[in-house]
Amino acid sequence: MRLYNTLTKTESEIVFPTKKNLNLFVCGPTVYDDPHLGNARVYLTFDTLVRFWRSQGKKIFYLQNITDIDDKIIAKAREENATPKAIAQRYLRAYQKNMRSLGVISVDRYALATKYIKDIKRQIETLIAKGHAYKIENDGWYFDLKTFSDYGQLAGRTVEQAEDGTSRIDASDQKRNRGDFCLWKFKRDGEPSWRANFGDGRPGWHIEDTAISEHHLGQQYDLHGGGVDLTFPHHEAEIAQQESASGKKPFVRHWAHIGLVNVDGKKMSKSLKNFITINEYLGKNSADALRLLFLQHDYRHTINLTAGSFTDAEKAILGIKNFLRKLDFVASVAKNTTTPPDTARIKENFAEEYLRHLENGFQTPAAIASVFKLIGSYEPIIWRLNKSEAREVKKMLNEKLAWLGFEPTGDKIPRAVLKIAARRDTLRNHQQFMHSDALRKELEGLGYTIEDTPLGSFISKATS
Ligand SMILES: [Zn+2]
Repeated sequence: MRLYNTLTKTESEIVFPTKKNLNLFVCGPTVYDDPHLGNARVYLTFDTLVRFWRSQGKKIFYLQNITDIDDKIIAKAREENATPKAIAQRYLRAYQKNMRSLGVISVDRYALATKYIKDIKRQIETLIAKGHAYKIENDGWYFDLKTFSDYGQLAGRTVEQAEDGTSRIDASDQKRNRGDFCLWKFKRDGEPSWRANFGDGRPGWHIEDTAISEHHLGQQYDLHGGGVDLTFPHHEAEIAQQESASGKKPFVRHWAHIGLVNVDGKKMSKSLKNFITINEYLGKNSADALRLLFLQHDYRHTINLTAGSFTDAEKAILGIKNFLRKLDFVASVAKNTTTPPDTARIKENFAEEYLRHLENGFQTPAAIASVFKLIGSYEPIIWRLNKSEAREVKKMLNEKLAWLGFEPTGDKIPRAVLKIAARRDTLRNHQQFMHSDALRKELEGLGYTIEDTPLGSFISKATS
């Protein structure tokens, strides 16, 4: 399996250890608000990648941290007159509920930062002892970037360029270098804090990740993932911390970053009010459609959501479901003893293409396109298949879709709708076409289409 590596800027083979797990760490959320579709994209993509690998017999340990203590949580707690702990718990539950609804099931372990204070303190002590950290009175402990010459390797920035960065960098006019980041913030009134030999306080944003990953995965591991917006400064800071603490390079062999989600060409943001939370999305749309929408785009590139994005994705999912229902129908009523020639070739081509696209850089858009190509090849011959062929195609397609986390069971057609369809069949059998046409129109009005096939009438939810 080849995958783009942000560290080397090339696609390279993912090396799965023999007998051991591949260790994967993905930056989880800061739990201070309802997660949005940008967050959903990161977690759905890694869920899909891990499900795919597991379907191929690979062993992965997937670890995700949860930032449950942070400036943002404290600010939100002040706003709502609640404790930071209560805020963190509320939004952790919201996050977990959203992930369940989206079918994100592949994380083995969620690690809450506040449960790893001991590991965090130990790592900071090491950095202090090795001369990588310095203290600013009444403020905290900072990492000295001048002590780590490799800073900027991941994002392709030099220390000077890094110092020009303005994104989520700790502010203090007493820092040695502008890009220096906080490892530990000293205790302040009304804020949670923990005891420490080097001064009571709470962890900075970056240190929890490396303390948690060292605890579970060791000082070096296989794969680190996250949103592309975390590349700098967050992931650079992780590399600086862990490589300085351990003296071992590289901290992580392979880095994978997921692109952003824009709305009408603009970055999702609260100030623009174009923010779509997962809850808002799921209020009107399905989890399968979101997964499909994301996988129809190269995971590394920005997705631009427009007015039609969600309905197009729902239609595409419905197209797959209707195809699977047709196969079911054929499998239950077909009397054909033969099946059209060449179907073996269609299936082989599909299976080969689908796997090749996924293994070659995780090209999910091409893999999804091959699903629709398969459907397109079968549509013209579907009513001529025999039972076993219909069953076989359905089984294969379901299995391949499950690799990417889809479990599209056919939407049940409501009984009332089936009754109308049955009445229409009877009328047609009695040549009462005017009456049967009226029932067809009624069905269309309800959002269904009815197809008169050589095997009888087939009803499905309309895709347009
Ligand atoms: Zn992180």
